[in-house]
Amino acid sequence: MEALVDIQNLHLDMVTLDGVAHVLNGVNLTIHRGDLVGLVGETGCGKSLTAMSIPQLTPKPPARYVEGRVYFRGENVLDKSETELRYLRAHHIGVIFQDPMTGLNPVFTIEQQMVDAILSREDAISATYWGLKWLPSNCERRRRARERAIALLRRVGIPEPERRIHSYPHEFSGGMRQRVLIAMAIAGRPDLLIADEPTTALDVSVQAQILRLIAELVREIQLTVLLITHNIGVVAQLCNRIAVMYAGAIVEEGPVRRVLRAPFHPYTQGLLKAIPTETTPKGKLQGVPGSVPNLYSPPPGCRFAPRCAYARSVCTLQQPPMTTIDEDHHVACILYREDHPGSL
Ligand code: SF4
Repeated sequence: MEALVDIQNLHLDMVTLDGVAHVLNGVNLTIHRGDLVGLVGETGCGKSLTAMSIPQLTPKPPARYVEGRVYFRGENVLDKSETELRYLRAHHIGVIFQDPMTGLNPVFTIEQQMVDAILSREDAISATYWGLKWLPSNCERRRRARERAIALLRRVGIPEPERRIHSYPHEFSGGMRQRVLIAMAIAGRPDLLIADEPTTALDVSVQAQILRLIAELVREIQLTVLLITHNIGVVAQLCNRIAVMYAGAIVEEGPVRRVLRAPFHPYTQGLLKAIPTETTPKGKLQGVPGSVPNLYSPPPGCRFAPRCAYARSVCTLQQPPMTTIDEDHHVACILYREDHPGSL
């Protein structure tokens, strides 16, 4: 199957007044067309920075790409000009951001924001093809953009979209605002949808509705999805692949069912043990001991070593490379290489 996204050995630093934080430390991630990939890990492990590297929405500075490549549709986005990147964002990549409460501008109506978003997409596309914004912003264009906005609102389940399009964001609930943001993200019929914790700020029942909507859109417009979340249950429900991230690197990646049934990396095992179940005795929930390392001075070798029950001196010598367990299940841990000396 064709790889839509191929991130290779990506290293990214954050240059701050306190020093240089080495936040991405050799990320490798391949997303094929039609995949729904769940990217999980603790807060601060680099999930959002990895995802935002694809449309190049990382703020530079403080972000600084040190090494690596980010291929999207076979082209390295790190080599692209700002005009080319605008086209990419307008036409090929949609992003749903984390917080629907702040994702919309409170002083403009939904209509103004959606129409402007649709028109700026058209402008980015025409600027790429003809080198200038040849389409004037006229009434006819706004009328067509408004019709498209109403159709998108209807598709994402906003009732009476012809009337509700005149509302301000504060007149919508959190779930309705997230639906509006999803409508804006799919307006350009993207190949890839990046959903950065799309349900975190919502009630449980609304979360289920939003996940159902994303699943419907995936089937309907054949989206490929990169879903960033803390919730492994959501990944199990929605995704076909899972990538587990720790301190700036993918440590395990593979089909959801296989990884959840037989996790290999000690960090993945720890994350799964931290999920409460109906049979978990009160007070017996296990967490991953310790805390995430300081990325201004990360530990040498495997960054998980200070928290790992299986760590040994060899773990601190070098970062364990990704090893193939079977066809499409990969892990970055020295234990697997010791058990299978011939593995790659
Ligand atoms: Fe633990 Fe060593 Fe594997 Fe890292 S490489 S997860 S420290 S056993």
